[in-house]
Amino acid sequence: MRKALQQQDETESSSEDSYNDSVGGTEQSWISWFCTLKGNEMFCEVDEDYIQDDFNLSGLSSSVPYYDYALDMILDVERERQELNEQQRELVESAAELLYGLIHARYILTQRGMTAMLEKYKRNHFGRCPRFLCANTPCLPVGTSDIFRTATVKIFCPKCKDVYFPRSKYQGNTDGAYFGTTFPHLFLMTFSHLQITKQVTAYEPRIFGFKIHEH
Ligand SMILES: [Zn+2]
Repeated sequence: MRKALQQQDETESSSEDSYNDSVGGTEQSWISWFCTLKGNEMFCEVDEDYIQDDFNLSGLSSSVPYYDYALDMILDVERERQELNEQQRELVESAAELLYGLIHARYILTQRGMTAMLEKYKRNHFGRCPRFLCANTPCLPVGTSDIFRTATVKIFCPKCKDVYFPRSKYQGNTDGAYFGTTFPHLFLMTFSHLQITKQVTAYEPRIFGFKIHEH
């Protein structure tokens, strides 16, 4: 969805969003390139070893169009580009994004993936709770559905245990299924020292300094 929106914006200008155009002959991998795109700050880099293991990708080939092409793109496998026309190449690019997102959702539930996300959490890559009384508590990404194209990504606050829209409109276009409904909860169970058990202060409305009586 995000890519589709960007492509609309870029019809007049050159498409900086295209991997081949922006990276050209440099050494940067597709995965590193993708994770540094604006709005993709919440994604960690999935190990190529993980992607190369067919077992980890089971079931995905039926969900993603141009699956083989998309997988090759993610892993920087050179293919004869001539066999695809311009429109097909664009479809492969968005298929690669979808495939990477779905792999990412699985990867961040593994030990390695969680460690990668821990590093990002420590650097506050997921944003902070917008609730005033949470005092800028760092948040974790969460999906409200595991089915892609259902809902965009949200952030979960470990303090008030509520979910919010990310502040960045770019992040707000990211599919929530690329993070999934389980991630922040399994993450906090795994790294239990990060759990915030302290009682959350509730906001108290007052009129001229007096608490409002329930009746
Ligand atoms: Zn909060």
